[in-house]
Amino acid sequence: MSWPDPVRHASILSTVIIGGGPGGLGPLLWAAQNDRLPGWLEKGVILLERGGRLGGSLGRYGINSDSLGGSYLECLAPDVIPDPMRRLRDDGVTADMALYRDAYPPLPLVDRYMGRIGQAITEIVARHPASEIRLRTEARSVHLRPDGLVAVVASSRDGPAHTLIARAAVVAVGGRQTWRDQTLAPGFPIADCRARLMPSNELLSHEGLAEANEILRTAGDRRVVIVGGSHSAYAVAWALLELRGARQLGDGQLVILQRRPPRVFYPDKAAAEVDDYPVDPGDICPRTGRVNRMGGLRGHGRDIWRRIMARPGVTAETRIAILDMADLGDADLRTLIDEAALVAPCLGYRSATIPIIDEHGRRLALRADADGDSVGDDCRLVLADGTALPNVYGIGLGTGFRPTLAMGCEPNFSGQANSLWLYQNDIGGTIYRGIHEKKAALAAA
Ligand SMILES: Cc1cc2nc3c(=O)[nH]c(=O)nc-3n(C[C@H](O)[C@H](O)[C@H](O)COP(=O)(O)OP(=O)(O)OC[C@H]3O[C@@H](n4cnc5c(N)ncnc54)[C@H](O)[C@@H]3O)c2cc1C
Repeated sequence: MSWPDPVRHASILSTVIIGGGPGGLGPLLWAAQNDRLPGWLEKGVILLERGGRLGGSLGRYGINSDSLGGSYLECLAPDVIPDPMRRLRDDGVTADMALYRDAYPPLPLVDRYMGRIGQAITEIVARHPASEIRLRTEARSVHLRPDGLVAVVASSRDGPAHTLIARAAVVAVGGRQTWRDQTLAPGFPIADCRARLMPSNELLSHEGLAEANEILRTAGDRRVVIVGGSHSAYAVAWALLELRGARQLGDGQLVILQRRPPRVFYPDKAAAEVDDYPVDPGDICPRTGRVNRMGGLRGHGRDIWRRIMARPGVTAETRIAILDMADLGDADLRTLIDEAALVAPCLGYRSATIPIIDEHGRRLALRADADGDSVGDDCRLVLADGTALPNVYGIGLGTGFRPTLAMGCEPNFSGQANSLWLYQNDIGGTIYRGIHEKKAALAAA
């Protein structure tokens, strides 16, 4: 492939953003809140989205958000936001979201709201001739050029492949679940189990919950096993118990099989102590004083944990038993899993990827290809050998981004930060600054 001359080529963009879900919108929303969006769009930003709308696909899930409604509304508060976003303050979907300011909105509402945010961003982008939103357009690969620019090869549903040249690319193509390769015991890959397997991603969808309801209704005394001990596992436990079919479950018939207990969110240390929750100093976020701010169960997942653990003020939930994997022998584990009516792997997400090609035409091995963290602290994509790419960034579900303590994170946090609020705030800001610092360096060179 021959590359256009970067100096004479008239349409070198600032940035190509690949993916129009909450992750891809994040840096744009950070810029909007900080009065940087018009300037960025003047330099040329093209967002490529494979689907027909912006805002992602949280609407496919039949559960509630584990972020408060207020966290979604924050991006509309700053005075400096462009008009189309400002008008959203009076939109019906915003009024619906405001009802959940201090509660956990249903994900279909979050999805409707993010769809409207996406429409507002589309209107803003349309005012800047150098920038564009291209729907139904799939990025096929990102090529690193010898001159330091990137080339993104994309094709729209009906049109030919085309190439966009930019100073930076942001890969925001969502996440994928990784349970298939995981083993429960030596020689026992979870995918080999004989029971009906429904990973959390499938189970929490509207169709998945309907099927799970039927399975629970006809389960008899067979167990239902949730594999995992974090957010998805407890969200699944809550969702299953809400189903009509769960009414007939006996004590301990729903099993959460975990390797370690989950961490739980509390607004402060005193609240944790009242709830009998032991707090290690490293669980406390130094910026906010919150306990397990990043890693703790929230929302309905937290509610169900409190009921299982019979915490003060709640009715104890006896239909769920928590088992520690280390306490089960391999044979018992296999029997438990194989004889279950339903097994739900809830083992987290890693980033989806697209091919990144070096200047010699070779596909680079990304750390994310081997289920590692796709980015480092500066949100740059990291190769399998640990090298960070200078001007290709990653954001969104499963990237493995770990906030710094300054961003407001408990020192003991070792998981991933998958949060729309973070995409629109610290993570979006990190990417914006990275792109613009890089641009300044290129201009000086
Ligand atoms: C069940 C569940 C509940 C969650 N609840 C919350 C919550 O309450 N609060 C919270 O903050 N976070 C939550 N998250 C975590 C996370 O913030 C969300 O999953 C969020 O929607 C992730 O956004 P994303 O942009 O990374 O992915 P997606 O929403 O999947 O968006 C990726 C986009 O990229 C597009 N795309 C993919 N490949 C290409 C390509 N090659 N070219 C062009 N476009 C492409 C896709 O069409 C899609 O629109 C939840 C996650 C899950 C799974």
